[in-house]
Amino acid sequence: MTTAGADCLFCRIVARRSDAEIEYEDDHVLAFKDIYPKAAIHLLIVPKRHIASILTMETGDAEVIGRCLLAARTIGAAKGFGERGYRVSVNCGPEGGQHVYHVHFHFMAGGRRGA
Ligand code: AMP
Ligand code: ZN
Repeated sequence: MTTAGADCLFCRIVARRSDAEIEYEDDHVLAFKDIYPKAAIHLLIVPKRHIASILTMETGDAEVIGRCLLAARTIGAAKGFGERGYRVSVNCGPEGGQHVYHVHFHFMAGGRRGA
């Protein structure tokens, strides 16, 4: 899927046209709370620029994808998990369990919650 802008939920959150509990922001990256948390701390880290999926990312997307991981490191350290660690995962495509087609890294810390 290549929807962006008004059609993309995470683009709307980046543009502050949909509500989210924002936890981190820099020039290129936004992180906000997942509305259905599966861990004590469950954030979604997204590039501000629309990239649909790891399945379709291009060479020019590599820097901002790396910046998402740097944001995970910053968030993890700020929340006290810099040594304990946390999970960062990304779902890709239908069989990979991707439901929102704007690349997002799940940041999960402090133990699993729910099923
Ligand atoms: P995925 O299944 O990997 O595409 O992840 C999509 C995630 O987005 C799920 O964990 C949802 O709980 C989360 N989600 C869906 N809508 C929202 C929203 N409006 N705000 C925050 N998280 C959302
Ligand atoms: Zn988008």
